[in-house]
This record gives sequence, C-alpha cells and structure tokens, in this order.
Amino acid sequence: MHPLTTIAYIGLGSNLVEPIKQVQDAIEEIKKLAHSHIINVSSLYLSKPMGPQDQDDYVNAVLALETKLAPLELLDALQSIENKAGRVRKENRWGARILDLDIILFGNEIINTERLIVPHYGMKTREFVLLPLAEIAADLMLPSSVAADRQSIKFLSQNIANNAMVKLTLS
Ligand code: ATP
Ligand code: MG
Ligand code: MG
Repeated sequence: MHPLTTIAYIGLGSNLVEPIKQVQDAIEEIKKLAHSHIINVSSLYLSKPMGPQDQDDYVNAVLALETKLAPLELLDALQSIENKAGRVRKENRWGARILDLDIILFGNEIINTERLIVPHYGMKTREFVLLPLAEIAADLMLPSSVAADRQSIKFLSQNIANNAMVKLTLS
C-alpha cells in the first residue's frame, strides 16, 4: 500500500475476441480493485496497430484511477486482469492481444525499474494514449526532473498525428 492516495492513468487496448467487450469488461474488473476507484473513463477509440500491420485495428481507452495501491501492486493487479482475460504473452512484440493494461502515469512519480517504467515510455508518441488521455485530463503535466520536459497532455495531443484514429459511438 501507498501512504497517499494517487491518481493513476491506465491505458487499455485490445484487438482480439470482441475488443470492445474486452475493454468494457476490463473497466468492470478495474472497478473491483481494492483500495481504488475509477474517477474518469475516456471514450473508446478505434486505432491502427503499431508494429506488425497484419492484425486487426485496436480498441483503446484511458481511465483515471484513484488508488492507495503502490505502483507494483497496481501492476500486479492489472496483469492478473490481463491473464484472466486470456492474454498469452508471445515472442512477437506488439502483436495481436486480447487485453493490454499499461500504467501511463502514477501521480507525479517517475519510476525506472526492471518491471515498471512510469511515465509509460511510449506515451508521448502514441496517439491511442494521448488522445483519450487528453479527453479526460488535458491540463495534466508530464512529470519530469527537467523543467523543459514538463509538457501538458493538451500540447502533446495537439502535436501528434491522429493516424486515422476514430472515436467510437456506442449504442
Ligand atoms: P509496450 O510496453 O510497448 O506498450 P506491451 O504493453 O505489449 O508493449 P507487455 O507485454 O504488456 O508490453 O508488458 C511487458 C512488460 O512491460 C511487463 O511485464 C511489465 O513488467 C513492463 N512494464 C514496464 N513499464 C510498464 C508500465 N508502465 N505499464 C505496464 N507494464 C510495464
Ligand atoms: Mg502496451
Ligand atoms: Mg502492456
């Protein structure tokens, strides 16, 4: 457990086995996490795959979670939700997956350990992270020990190509 309540941002992605349902079910599972509650969820988006192109488009979202879990406790909990959804880790990086739950930000913490890198190393270059994140937290600033690197999510999201990403309107 963490001494303080933190707001963590979690990126969700799926491109296998009813991806919209995978993301919706994952949100329900995250709602059940101990010492945590969801305070905001972005729309769902359809995005182009990164890396290997011979796979379906992804469904993505980002949510804000108020939590008293420590960063590694949160990572463990998210990985067990991924496993429960049936995720199998394969050799090929960025290949198709049932569910990916990444910690994008954990308050203002900067973490560089073997298991966990926060802010997520890819967040500044991934439209499927920045655009949903901007929808729920545009004014957020990236934590950094270097003042010049403390960019806002709004700025980053306005300066990234949207790569044909579309917001899903769910009935
Ligand atoms: P990418 O990391 O490029 O988004 P990925 O999400 O497909 O790729 P995974 O297979 O889900 O990668 O995770 C590989 C490892 O990344 C995990 O076992 C975990 O320990 C580590 N990891 C490091 N930083 C993070 C983070 N911020 N959120 C989630 N996992 C992380
Ligand atoms: Mg990922
Ligand atoms: Mg991951």
